[in-house]
Amino acid sequence: MKVISSPRQRDGPLFSAIHRQRPTASLLLINLLRDTSTPILVYLAEQYGLRRVPGLTRQALVDRILRQLSEEVLRRLEDDLIAARYGSLSVSDLLQLALEGDRRRHGRAPRLEDMPADDARLIEGDARRWVYTMHGYDVIIDLDRRYLACSCPFFQFASRRQALCKHLARAFTLVPEAYAREALIDLLVSRGYGGPDTPGWSFDAPKAA
Ligand SMILES: [Zn+2]
Repeated sequence: MKVISSPRQRDGPLFSAIHRQRPTASLLLINLLRDTSTPILVYLAEQYGLRRVPGLTRQALVDRILRQLSEEVLRRLEDDLIAARYGSLSVSDLLQLALEGDRRRHGRAPRLEDMPADDARLIEGDARRWVYTMHGYDVIIDLDRRYLACSCPFFQFASRRQALCKHLARAFTLVPEAYAREALIDLLVSRGYGGPDTPGWSFDAPKAA
């Protein structure tokens, strides 16, 4: 079934929601909605001003939300769904989720305790970019570029599967908490729900010098 509308522009004022062009919803939002239970969808639809229609199936509820809410409201809904899933989690919870995901998908994941925080040295710390050396490897988290890098041998393989190494996992516990949460939530959301139109993260494994 086709759920994404064409990005055609509206050419006149809207007088009725019924005749409104279907707004463009991101695949991310569609996936988030599909992963939301029916009672929550019913609740959200009402919260966002849609009249309650009893007896709708999940799919019908999702379709109705996507069809009837404006693009701006859909963006707010996307933020709300992300906050509902991840908003209350700490850096350590989020990191655990990311590492569990790695373990589920690839059978193994690095352990944080194998990279002691005391052995990490901050080389460069910008507002949204951090460079560390850890046991001789260069580790970079760059929030604005959605860029992660580590020069360790493990990451040569892990990076191809968008998985973390113990150095990057440790780095997330060292950067300021608000930024670490922002980065990890973005990473989990794009990995778990993203589509081709979702900005993804680059995993870079430069060879050690
Ligand atoms: Zn590494």
